[in-house]
This record gives sequence, structure tokens and C-alpha cells, in this order.
Amino acid sequence: MAGAILTQAASWHNVERAIRRLKSARCLSARALAERPASQIRALVRSTGYFRQKTERLRTFSQWYRRTYGASARRMFRRPTARVRSELLALHGIGPETADSILLYGGAHPVFVVDAYTRRVFGRHGLIRGDEPYEAIQQMVMDRLPAEPQLFNEFHALIVAVGKQYCHRRHPNCAACPLGSFPTNLEVTTHG
Ligand code: SF4
Repeated sequence: MAGAILTQAASWHNVERAIRRLKSARCLSARALAERPASQIRALVRSTGYFRQKTERLRTFSQWYRRTYGASARRMFRRPTARVRSELLALHGIGPETADSILLYGGAHPVFVVDAYTRRVFGRHGLIRGDEPYEAIQQMVMDRLPAEPQLFNEFHALIVAVGKQYCHRRHPNCAACPLGSFPTNLEVTTHG
């Protein structure tokens, strides 16, 4: 759950670094994140960028998590998906992508996570325009797939892998991409 907050606009490599540092400083718990001095948390999560905002978000989330669910993931994730999702979205700094990542990766709830790679890959293949609201893209996918957390988990991970390895913002490498046989709306396909 902390990872889902820290990964906003950060690489997973830097998030892992921050998580390791939080762990070794015994700060990776709702209690520590809510009670330790903000300056200490900021220093530990610095590698993820926007560390002031992220410290505040971790604290807001941790306070809510303790207050509402006694810091019990079991209690939290046994509630209906829609209810936990709307509670998460009501917290400052938690948007739909973060809320859904917490639900899917933290609690195995069957929700599809829409990220920048999803918009890019789907957009280039003409499945979406690219500027649709988050929930419209999510619903489009969820209407067409069985509600299985493992499936959404794997699907999202594969979209991220394609985005990172092939579907670069400036130079998509369609010739080497596993989706290269599907039509795209790119005018010029470059490599590299
Ligand atoms: S085939 Fe090209 S446009 Fe499609 S996902 Fe791969 S790199 Fe992106």
C-alpha cells in the first residue's frame, strides 16, 4: 500500500529503495508512518521524488487506516470493493490509479488499473482516444473480462512491460513489440 503511494511519478526501482530504507528504519508500519517525525519519513522516501507530498500522503493514509480499520488489511479488504475505493478516493492525494493499485495489488480485489501506459498502448491501437476519463477506460476493460484479480494483475503487468520495453513515448519499437502484428494508428513507426 505504501508502494502504491510512493510509485506516483516514480520508477519502481526507486520505490523499492525507499521501501527498503523504511523497513530498515522500522518505519514501514501505519503507526510509525503516522507518528514518526515527518522529517525522518521525508529523508527515507527521498529517492521517489515529491518526497514532501508523499510523506504527507503516507501519513494521511496511515492515520485513516488506523482509525478506520485498526491498521488491519484483513478488515479493510473484506469490505466491498466500491466502498473501500470511495473511502480511499476521499483521502487527500489518493487518485483512482493509486486506489485501484491498493485494491488490486494489496487486497486482490478485481479492479483494472489504468495508467499512462494503458492510455498510450490502447490509444495507439485505436481502442480509445486517450483523453477519456479514467473510469470509462477501466469500465471498458472490466466489461470485457472476467472479474479475476489474477487476470487484472497479469494484464496490467504486461501492459506496463510492453510500455517500458517497446511502446516508448517518442520512438515506439513496433517491429520488435509482441503487439506489432495488430494495426496501429501511428503514422510513422520508428525503432529504438
Ligand atoms: S505495436 Fe507499437 S504501438 Fe503497439 S504497443 Fe507495441 S510499440 Fe506500442
